[in-house]
Amino acid sequence: MKNLSIKQLTKVYSNGVKAVDNLSLEISPGMFGLLGPNGAGKSTLMRTIATLQNPDSGSIHFNGIDVLQDPMSLRKILGYLPQEFGVYPKVSAERLLAYFARLKGVEKKQERQALIQKALEVTNLYEVRKKHVSSYSGGMKQRFGIAQMLLSKPQLIIVDEPTAGLDPAERQRFLNILREIGTEHTVLFSTHIVDDVKELCHEMAIMNGGRILQQTTPEAAADKLKEQIWTKPIQREELEQIRSSYTLLSSHYKRDNTLYARIHSPEKPGPEFTASEPNLEDAYFLALQQANTAV
Ligand code: ADP
Repeated sequence: MKNLSIKQLTKVYSNGVKAVDNLSLEISPGMFGLLGPNGAGKSTLMRTIATLQNPDSGSIHFNGIDVLQDPMSLRKILGYLPQEFGVYPKVSAERLLAYFARLKGVEKKQERQALIQKALEVTNLYEVRKKHVSSYSGGMKQRFGIAQMLLSKPQLIIVDEPTAGLDPAERQRFLNILREIGTEHTVLFSTHIVDDVKELCHEMAIMNGGRILQQTTPEAAADKLKEQIWTKPIQREELEQIRSSYTLLSSHYKRDNTLYARIHSPEKPGPEFTASEPNLEDAYFLALQQANTAV
């Protein structure tokens, strides 16, 4: 069952940048990862779905709501977590959540308390609920953003590049929380980090230049490249020549300080190459390269 449907969406900014280019995408409930480099158009797409800006053309439907015609109906069931947070007052997380719950019209104290406790528990903030949100670290503020979002029981959750800038432990904690809430909601999650998608998402799309290059699953994307990924130890000076002769996906040093080139080829490119298991990063780099050479 698909419940978020985006059809032929286009957005051109006044400076002429086409940030979203005739994009269509169907998304089912669960965790959906939107993977793309900086400038791909991910934020523009997400802000448009979140009704924060209008596209030039196209349509968006979520569970029967025509999002562009009826933005208020979507806002009632939407949780949107932007990249940047505003300034928080010197108030404890618990009190601030109580305030937000009241604003959202949760009148009964008992109901409010239950809701807040659940939000604090899901986001692992229960222990620090008495601390001022202004004193929280970046990762804790991100989690507070999720807690705040959960108060309104959103059906659609949009999270824009949440892991950028988090340290590894906070990143893992944040991904775990998303994993938990992803089982009950439709979560659209954007990132430029391949591992975020690999660890978290059942479904995904690769986006660049305002377009969807591939809609797939992390497993299928890698599986498609079986027996097509080859590595070879090289000298650093050879890199440019390899790049011009082959489809070079990446290069990295191994422990013995040898540089390895990783290339894509349907056939074994030469005797000095060794077959390697494909991964999602290969699929991502290949999709970006093929899109660039097609231009
Ligand atoms: P991403 O989130 O994938 O990094 P964005 O949606 O932020 O991509 O940006 C897509 C393109 O649109 C980029 O080229 C960016 O510079 C441009 N862009 C984004 N916002 C604006 C804006 N308000 N005005 C003009 N250009 C913009």
